[in-house]
Amino acid sequence: MNNNFKHRPNFYKLKLTMAALVLVMIGYTPKAEAEQGAPSATLMHIKGEQAKGSSAALVHTEQPTKKLAVIIDDLGNNMVGTEQIMAMPVKLTVAVMPFLPSTEKDARLAHEKGFDVLLHLPMEPKQGRASWLGPGAILSSLTDAEVRSRVEKAIDNVPYAVGINNHMGSKITADERIMSIVLDVCKERGLFFVDSKTNYRSIVGKLCRAKGLPQVDNHIFLDDVASEAAIARQIEKVAEFLKIHESCVTIGHVGHSGKKTASVLRQSIEKLQKEAQFVGVSDLAREQGKPNIILP
Ligand SMILES: [Zn+2]
Repeated sequence: MNNNFKHRPNFYKLKLTMAALVLVMIGYTPKAEAEQGAPSATLMHIKGEQAKGSSAALVHTEQPTKKLAVIIDDLGNNMVGTEQIMAMPVKLTVAVMPFLPSTEKDARLAHEKGFDVLLHLPMEPKQGRASWLGPGAILSSLTDAEVRSRVEKAIDNVPYAVGINNHMGSKITADERIMSIVLDVCKERGLFFVDSKTNYRSIVGKLCRAKGLPQVDNHIFLDDVASEAAIARQIEKVAEFLKIHESCVTIGHVGHSGKKTASVLRQSIEKLQKEAQFVGVSDLAREQGKPNIILP
């Protein structure tokens, strides 16, 4: 009888257990592993199996490491589709407009659901009616002090906001004077800014880099055309985008297209989960590791 051979399985078991222990002790997380470019699913699985005491450590459960942040804009005014969005069984981000009848209610409910909350800050567009902007809008005619005051009041009005994105704003996101003030307030408050990219001349990315803020951009609008077929085509674009990128930010809306967007999104969850995991947009901001950002 070969004693060495006989004891080998236990020896391997011990080695694996010790390896897992070391990983736990040094706080080794799957995320840290992913950042170093190694396969995180295997590691996650080994840790899980060790916890259960099983020896099937190499069974591989595929969990996408790519990340998808779905932002739903225009909450805060009892908009059509809000209920369906709040009932979604995956993590979303809702962007809530300030100073409106359901601002506080929507922000609180979303937070309780575990969603990320953004302040959806109304900003002057190049075109479009001023009446679409809503109260407290950032206009190009405001002085520096007025811009700062409006941004601060709007942040205070939306509980649990971890960041800001723009409602409309094609004019303001190209205005360096105003965006600089908005981003300064973001930085002071520990928030980040998501550029909805309503203007390809936006200077938000450049300013974020200069100020040491994370740069988070929208990639795909889901419901510019409010038909289920059109929204499904946009979802298809999200899936394609994720095949060649590590993460995707996509924006849909409550309101006019609300129920359709919610319905197509819900039907697409399984398909999208094959490409990526649903995350809050703060997860993408946090990943950039900017030191001044305080995130939940
Ligand atoms: Zn909006």
